[in-house]
Amino acid sequence: MATEIYTGFGFDSHAFEEGKKNIVLGGVEIPFEKGVKSHSDGDVLIHALIDALFGAAGMEDIGAHFPDTDERYRNISSLILLDKTVVLLKERGYRIVNADFTVIAERPKLSSYGAAVKRTLASRLQVEEGRIALKAKTAEGLGFVGEGRGLAVFANVLVRKDG
Ligand code: MG
Repeated sequence: MATEIYTGFGFDSHAFEEGKKNIVLGGVEIPFEKGVKSHSDGDVLIHALIDALFGAAGMEDIGAHFPDTDERYRNISSLILLDKTVVLLKERGYRIVNADFTVIAERPKLSSYGAAVKRTLASRLQVEEGRIALKAKTAEGLGFVGEGRGLAVFANVLVRKDG
């Protein structure tokens, strides 16, 4: 059987929360005067990535596999959820080819953390760092992101299944 390839797309957004500090993005803690409102660690990038991976494999979404009503997932590191996702895909014969992200946030500035995020994701997805692409954009002052009330991430992945 020939190699089959599938794309997957994911999106996530979270509101910032006063009284918390620092955000976790792609498994990397980034200093910020606010935190993220979330049941887990609020890693928007990994949540978008997990949805993209499940989407590529035709396996529903993050909420179906890791419901936010489940106490086991309270404050859990999203890296653990990502590892579980990679295992679930592997069990079905899928290997990750590449992942491409766009992060939309007015603040904090993410440029100094891009290399660390790529390194972390490459190791978790078991791909070379060159297969992880990360772009950061602002929303030009528009909407909830532009008003500094939260951040959003789009993720696109390609997976392969070798016959
Ligand atoms: Mg989320």
